Amino acid sequence: MNKLLTLIFLVTFYSCQQNSNSKNVENKNSDQIEYALVIHGGAGTILKENMTEDTEMKYILALEFALKTGEEILKNGGTSLEAVIQTINTMEDSPLFNAGKGAVFTNAGENELDASIMEGKFLNAGAVAGVETVRNPINAAAAVMSNSEHVMLAGKGAESFAKEHGLEIVDPSYFYTERRWQSLQNVKNKDLGSVEEFKEYKYGTVGAVALDKEGNIVAGTSTGGMTNKKWNRIGDSPVIGAGTYANNKTCGVSCTGHGEFFMRYAVAHDISAAMEYKDLSVEEAGNLVINQKLKKIKGSGGAIILDQDGNVAMPFNSAGMYRGYIKSDGSKEVKIYKD
Ligand code: ASP
Repeated sequence: MNKLLTLIFLVTFYSCQQNSNSKNVENKNSDQIEYALVIHGGAGTILKENMTEDTEMKYILALEFALKTGEEILKNGGTSLEAVIQTINTMEDSPLFNAGKGAVFTNAGENELDASIMEGKFLNAGAVAGVETVRNPINAAAAVMSNSEHVMLAGKGAESFAKEHGLEIVDPSYFYTERRWQSLQNVKNKDLGSVEEFKEYKYGTVGAVALDKEGNIVAGTSTGGMTNKKWNRIGDSPVIGAGTYANNKTCGVSCTGHGEFFMRYAVAHDISAAMEYKDLSVEEAGNLVINQKLKKIKGSGGAIILDQDGNVAMPFNSAGMYRGYIKSDGSKEVKIYKD
């Protein structure tokens, strides 16, 4: 009888153990994010009351398409580098965003594009500034990172480099869109100061941060800069540490907003540093830099942030920011306004 009781006890005990072990494994697997992708399509005075349903839907679809493109790559074991490049390409090729095809005009009526990319594994980075003929500036930034000993190339030199590396070169007229041309005329007619000008007339820089199955984080940003810019002005987007930053140990960051403030406050690196030195979460670091430090000095804009565990933050201190994320656990979000 005793033997029988002991046997029953042992069988029950082991089967309970088995159950709880398999639960742990299950929980661990379902909690663990294998890959994640977060994107933005610019921050600014984006208000529901100024948006038609049709335009809103176009933005939502473009953001969804960008996420889907990147997710497909990450799901199939592709690298975060490939995912960031191709995700950004979809937004560069869309006239909706201030990057690539939809780039804003300079005061001289031209389009000057900037982009940067950074890998969090070895802190490799590449950037191009002021290019006028490279169809997808993010590809040029990636080529600088992977195929040169430099970090940033500008103007004609960057264009020659892109051409030599087989990237698609287009006539500058490719970047003409009626909408952006009208924005330039509006800014010129109103003769506004630079801050107001920024708030009223421009948004749409694009960015992506991806985490792949290997645990590597890559961040990238691409922009046409600010409407009516003069003197080959360059903003934060191609500046590593200001508009873009990635470090596997902390996070990947891509920013959008009034570039001069983002450069002075080295925003992308500051977010990473807040995580490294103060042990803050992506949410806390983003809030500290975007909603406290930048807000205090009226530096309008936002950022997307992603860490190695797949935690995402998308803080902004402007009225809206085109944004979204997707993760391997099926969670997903696409948003434009505050709520
Ligand atoms: N940060 C960009 C710049 O200042 C503009 C933007 O994000 O919309 O060039």
